[in-house]
Amino acid sequence: MKYYIIFGPPGAGKGTHAKRLVEDYNLKHISTGELLRAEIAAGTPLGLKAKELISAGQLVPDEVVEGMIETVFKTTKGVDGFLLDGFPRTMPQAVALDEILGKLSGEVTAVISLTVAEDVIYRRLAGRAKIEGRADDADPSIIANRIKTYHLQTEPLIDFYKKAGKYHEVDGYGGESSDGIKVVGDRIAALMKTL
Ligand code: ADP
Repeated sequence: MKYYIIFGPPGAGKGTHAKRLVEDYNLKHISTGELLRAEIAAGTPLGLKAKELISAGQLVPDEVVEGMIETVFKTTKGVDGFLLDGFPRTMPQAVALDEILGKLSGEVTAVISLTVAEDVIYRRLAGRAKIEGRADDADPSIIANRIKTYHLQTEPLIDFYKKAGKYHEVDGYGGESSDGIKVVGDRIAALMKTL
């Protein structure tokens, strides 16, 4: 089983590029953000709690997302691997992931990290707010908080995965034309061939 992580700040394009990767490599896409939004839409107790935190630009507790990931690993059949999108996002989550994978006799295969300048992120999230209607994209102060959370809690993972020899960076900016997504997608595809 392959266990890929697509990594990067909010608005880096993780979800967009995940879609092509899961098709090309027969992977199951696991987006913790999407799983949490499904809980919110279903109005579960977990969803209600998550909604408060997400709309403040904060993270939900580690145990919550760790449990979600483990469940998907155990219940998914017929794939060659998984693509984690938005997980892990904290050091404890990264440690927990290694433990969960250890129990499954697996390990993280590679981290594909999308780098994007901060001004591009702000522009993309503001644009996405209009299309997807996500409340956490609509307010610049919430976006700023998510980026702050990323720097504080998520960025340390870069060093963790570099030390493990698993970290691979891809320039996530493909220009402003409609071709931009394909340009970045092709860079990721080229990297995947080397892994
Ligand atoms: P983005 O990458 O644009 O921030 P996501 O859909 O990945 O969007 O996440 C949306 C929100 O869901 C995050 O801001 C956070 O509040 C919550 N969330 C998603 N994944 C995690 C995680 N692994 N740990 C804690 N909170 C998470």
